[in-house]
Amino acid sequence: MKVFINPGHAMHGNPDPGALNGELGYRESDVVSRIGEKVKLYLERAGCEVRLLQSHNLLGECPDYGPAIVDAAESFGADVFISLHCNAFDTRARGCETLCYDDEEAGGALAMAIHRQLIETMRDKDGSMPDRGIKERKDLAVLRATNMPAVLCEIAFIDNIQDAALLIVYEDDIARAIARGVTDYQVALAG
Ligand SMILES: [Zn+2]
Repeated sequence: MKVFINPGHAMHGNPDPGALNGELGYRESDVVSRIGEKVKLYLERAGCEVRLLQSHNLLGECPDYGPAIVDAAESFGADVFISLHCNAFDTRARGCETLCYDDEEAGGALAMAIHRQLIETMRDKDGSMPDRGIKERKDLAVLRATNMPAVLCEIAFIDNIQDAALLIVYEDDIARAIARGVTDYQVALAG
């Protein structure tokens, strides 16, 4: 299976670091880049062919700001597309949510498989981690314009102190969970 992993925002945070935790000095672009590298490693160990490309263009392809991510996934011939992000709101909101274009389509099944693994892993580390569920989003280019099943993981809220700690301390567990979600999906497809 060919897997395209797209950590969100700009590589090295320039021009777009994504969401921030000012108190702890964490940037979304760095957190998702590290998790993406590890997801790649675990999926390659599981026999997948993986392409990893970070991009800035969440709401549309803007070549001025970096690679055209949907085109890159198409030309790679990806079977699945996974975008990695962290949420932010008011420093109090917490939880994990997984986005797809249409939860009745294959993207929904992929979202379900990844989300189940992510929630199980994070709840195991912190039982108070809220499950915000699977959400349909029609506005995000990475979900709308991709032809393969695509998901966007909002792994946790980087601006919340508890969620941010999970993101940093359990980065490796989170990456393994995402990779397991992909292989669960692959097994379900084959079955
Ligand atoms: Zn983001």
